[in-house]
Amino acid sequence: MPTLRPLVVPQPSVPDSIPAAGAKPAGNGRVADPQKFRVEVAPSRIDGQGAFAAEPIPARRKIGEIRGEFIDMATARARAREAEQSTGRIFMVAISDKRAVDATHSSDPLRFANHACEPNMVLKVQQGRVAFYALRDIEAGEELTARYGETHHAGRLQCRCGSPRCVGRL
Ligand SMILES: [Zn+2]
Repeated sequence: MPTLRPLVVPQPSVPDSIPAAGAKPAGNGRVADPQKFRVEVAPSRIDGQGAFAAEPIPARRKIGEIRGEFIDMATARARAREAEQSTGRIFMVAISDKRAVDATHSSDPLRFANHACEPNMVLKVQQGRVAFYALRDIEAGEELTARYGETHHAGRLQCRCGSPRCVGRL
């Protein structure tokens, strides 16, 4: 598996809006939340649920992270196969040739970020952390998207990002 492979199949049922963590300090002794800007989950015209900016985000700023369970690649592949045969719902990102993060049970709203061929975020893996940064100024209400590169869909999924330069397949 190449890098960054969100294994994004249809999505679990989620509330219309998940309040982004980190909008306020937790105040209960937890470590700093990696969510830097408020992100909401809502229905997407691209696919299923999407992540949307709930406030303006300046270019180049870190927006937040996807956290989850660290698993090896064999486990990641097994879970992806299992999900395809059952619920079809899983969120994983490969962070190296050997390891992936399974964010299926995470509450981080950015795990709903859809792929787009001309995205407004870039996904970076830094020391095992999966973080998203703004590629340009993003307005409140815009859907947040990233280019996911090769996915386990292996070209079987039609891209509906709507960009004139859409490559068409995931
Ligand atoms: Zn596209």
